[in-house]
Amino acid sequence: VKSTIHVRGDLQGIIESQLALMHSQLQLLGGHSVAADSLPMPSTTAPIAKQSDSTANTVVEAKGVLGNWRAKANREVSADEKARAEYINQFIGRFNERTNKTKLHTQKYRSHLADNRVSAGFRPNLKEMIYTIIFKSGKGSHFVDLDGNDYIDFSMGFGVNLFGHCPDFIEERIRKQLDIGYCVGPQAELAGIVAEKACKVLQHERIAFLNSGTEAVMTAIRLARTVTARNRVVIFEGSYHGHADVVLARAATQGGVSLPVAPGVPTGIVGDVVVLPYGEASSIEYIRKHGDSLAAVLVEPVQSRYPEHQPVEFLKEIRKITEKTGTAFIFDEVICGLRVAPAGAEQLFQIKPDISVYGKILGGGMPIGAVAGFAKYLDPIDGGNWRFGDDSYPGAEMTFFAGTFCKHPVTMAAADAVLDRFLKDGDSLTSNLNQRTAKLCQRLNAEFQGYDLQANNFGSLFRFKSPSNIDLLFANINYRGAYVWEGRNLFLSTAHTQKDEDDFIQIVKTSIDELSHEGFLRKKA
Ligand code: PMP
Repeated sequence: VKSTIHVRGDLQGIIESQLALMHSQLQLLGGHSVAADSLPMPSTTAPIAKQSDSTANTVVEAKGVLGNWRAKANREVSADEKARAEYINQFIGRFNERTNKTKLHTQKYRSHLADNRVSAGFRPNLKEMIYTIIFKSGKGSHFVDLDGNDYIDFSMGFGVNLFGHCPDFIEERIRKQLDIGYCVGPQAELAGIVAEKACKVLQHERIAFLNSGTEAVMTAIRLARTVTARNRVVIFEGSYHGHADVVLARAATQGGVSLPVAPGVPTGIVGDVVVLPYGEASSIEYIRKHGDSLAAVLVEPVQSRYPEHQPVEFLKEIRKITEKTGTAFIFDEVICGLRVAPAGAEQLFQIKPDISVYGKILGGGMPIGAVAGFAKYLDPIDGGNWRFGDDSYPGAEMTFFAGTFCKHPVTMAAADAVLDRFLKDGDSLTSNLNQRTAKLCQRLNAEFQGYDLQANNFGSLFRFKSPSNIDLLFANINYRGAYVWEGRNLFLSTAHTQKDEDDFIQIVKTSIDELSHEGFLRKKA
């Protein structure tokens, strides 16, 4: 994230600072690759619909304050701009009517629930529809919202639900575990069994379980620093590795010292983190030159925001250098693992990292993170592999590792079911889904023809790419019953049917037609 966050004291300055921070956070999470205010922003004050909910007897009335804020821009408003502003207000009215209960529910609990998701993508002229759809029930590729609307879900738990929501084969294992008990304290019987299966599927020597990708990344870096006895870590622009302080760094504009991406992260914590451009020769040069002093090079092999960018040769070159310099090469496979191939991008690209980080799919819908890799890098967790009945002992230098909920029995049960499925179906599971997603993107690109829009996939992850802000397109798609979360990563699951795909194409087509007709999407010259 390159944008500098200015803090100004006046109202407009405060709002701008907040929007910049939200924008940079959303950018990190995968959404809005275009500046937040690049969508046509009408300078008229929006006439905002009043809404009432008879059951809750609550009235939500917007004041339009922020609309006035922009009105101060003091410039001529063209007829086109006025028409677009009118469309936005009319669309917001329709959107609100369809999802009224979600909107009221969000407003009701905002004072207590601190939740950055429900402010994500905030913009004054879209304010009245800035809320995240709340689900009432979900199964397979669909869920139903509070108002009873059905959605085909293409967010799939941010990539968690490879098999759709609540698949029967995972649910059965979870139920069974609930019957047995979900004790924490004594070790879960399944922990060792799941570790063995995971090492087989993910092709690593040892593995440790945590509760999230963030924890796993944090641990991977600590392990690399322990084993190498070095501090400096290289990460790359455009990657997302979760929200541990240590990875919340951005490249400095001058001077070479990284800066934190947000207030609250001390400069000192990112002082040993170097942020380089991804896939560029200059980064290879840096790693070659400084390799001897690097603890780790951490990559998101294919960054979820740029599925079309697959720099295999770049990764191979880093592997060669880091092998020589004794630097830990860490693959963050939180999204790619168990998706593009069982072991992830490393399997697809035939590159062996020292440490890999997994999460999401592995937990079968339960919270999980995992660090896997060569024994040398995992041994600082427990001192290494020692045996009863001989003179072996935990001899590896250890570092700090802990977590009340690590290896939670319910998570282990769900992970066990996921891994059994992978052991049974192997690579065909992921390769079939990859092919289906590539075909779906081809169909999308046929609809996008003539527009500055493109669908790209890596495995069963896909994204829409455009030089313009396409928030309104996604709002239209959501409005028509296909759900895409604010980060805009879309996922195909094994639960999606051909009908789901056909319906999605129709929804996208109708949305494009409407926005094109209203002057928001233009055909390329
Ligand atoms: N790494 C990558 C590549 C991710 O995409 C994410 C989350 N989307 C994380 C790490 C962090 O995982 P979690 O949200 O489980 O902490």
